Amino acid sequence: MTERQNQHNRLIYEANHDSLTGLYNRGYFITELQKAIDRTQNCQDYLFGLLFMDVDRFKLINDSFGHQAGDQLLIEIGDRLQSCIRPQDILSRWGGDEFAIIIDDIQDLSEISQLTNKIQQTIKKPIILGEDHLETVTSLSIGIALSSMGYNCSADMLRDADTALYRAKDRGKGSYAIFTQAMHHRVRQQLQLETDLRYALKREELLLNYQPIISMKTNRIVGCEVLLRWEHGTLGLISPEQFIPMAEETGLIVKMGDWVIEQACIQAKQWECIYQDAPPFLSVNLSTKQLINQGIVEKIKEILEATKCSPELIRFELTETAIAESTEVAVTTLRKIKDLGIRLCIDDFGTGHSSLSRLSCFPIDTLKIDRSFIQGMSASEHQTKIAYAIVKLAQSLGMETIAEGIENLEQFCQLKSWGCELAQGFLMAQPIASKIFQEVLNQNLIYPLEC
Ligand code: C2E
Ligand code: CA
Ligand code: CA
Repeated sequence: MTERQNQHNRLIYEANHDSLTGLYNRGYFITELQKAIDRTQNCQDYLFGLLFMDVDRFKLINDSFGHQAGDQLLIEIGDRLQSCIRPQDILSRWGGDEFAIIIDDIQDLSEISQLTNKIQQTIKKPIILGEDHLETVTSLSIGIALSSMGYNCSADMLRDADTALYRAKDRGKGSYAIFTQAMHHRVRQQLQLETDLRYALKREELLLNYQPIISMKTNRIVGCEVLLRWEHGTLGLISPEQFIPMAEETGLIVKMGDWVIEQACIQAKQWECIYQDAPPFLSVNLSTKQLINQGIVEKIKEILEATKCSPELIRFELTETAIAESTEVAVTTLRKIKDLGIRLCIDDFGTGHSSLSRLSCFPIDTLKIDRSFIQGMSASEHQTKIAYAIVKLAQSLGMETIAEGIENLEQFCQLKSWGCELAQGFLMAQPIASKIFQEVLNQNLIYPLEC
């Protein structure tokens, strides 16, 4: 009898618990959450909070220390969370690096913020991982939903806590955010914009601008960066900083990116015919999502053949972060793209976390110094030193450097004196429509930049 009873108990335990951390699992948690919601409907004074959390930089730690260390980290975080809560609260491992807590029966908001602070403080303490006793620190991002918003079902409350978690992440690592009606409004707006973006291509609301890139030796235009614009039907011009991340999240970037490459190649071919002696190169931004999308190489080949554009006139810009996070497959893809004759450039260099050894695995021709360093040059010696170091690093690796975001002559001359080859920024020109760019090319302008 006891044997059977034990077995029965074990099965129940396993059905309700996460095998790695021993915490409650998602299924059990949802049932308890629904019970708490039901209670709010019977008892007016009953208030509770839902905390939804994930571990900042978990992937990085998991990838660099190994899965075993990753597991150990999750167990440790589970233990620390358990130590922060009261017996009546319910903690669960939601899945992956996500945890959730029901904070039962609270009197007011200050209890929630006190607990959240306690959690952040506890999690922040260093953690020793693995046989090598590597010390690491991490933090949690926390999204909070309160039962006072009036929920009927657990899914709605979880959705709102998740929305708050996203807001917390926007605020930086180790932050928390409480779900509000305003967030709800923002989410609705965002969803509408996402829907509109799906139609943007079809409605021909996307267009390209071209920002001149000049040679620091000759002060003449040698190329341009291709920058995407969205002319929304009712909202007007929407910044790429707003819609590119959205396009990446939804996967729309792949289709949009194909369109950009195609239009750029058509344009490049046109200018190649007009300015045969020295046609400008076109530098196109490529997002990670595009890079890891199967068939990208075939697509590029297809576009090159259809447009008859010379591949030497096309460059792709990938952000340093994309390089740092990319897989072996991405490296192979980049090699194939390079074999087509297209040049590759690392964008926003200095802001990502790529290691120098990793950098040398990639067939890169150009480093583009992030504009934050250029803009910091006048004010900060530190930033100036970084900009200098990047130019020298590129030179020693046999790469060309381009400085973006140049806004004054002082920046231009300093970069030029270090041997930086190419310049881009409002000092020379803003991104402009193709017609205007062509007018500028026709003038064969020498920019009056005397150092
Ligand atoms: P990015 O690749 O770093 O592009 C350079 C951005 O810096 C452009 O903003 C440009 O207008 C701006 N800029 C250039 N010179 C100066 C200057 O002197 N001062 C200042 N303050 N800014 C300057 P834009 O056009 O708003 O593009 C923003 C970002 O959107 C781009 O950053 C790029 O990451 C993304 N993006 C734009 N077009 C595409 C595209 O076709 N595909 C992808 N994947 N991303 C794109
Ligand atoms: Ca760029
Ligand atoms: Ca950039």
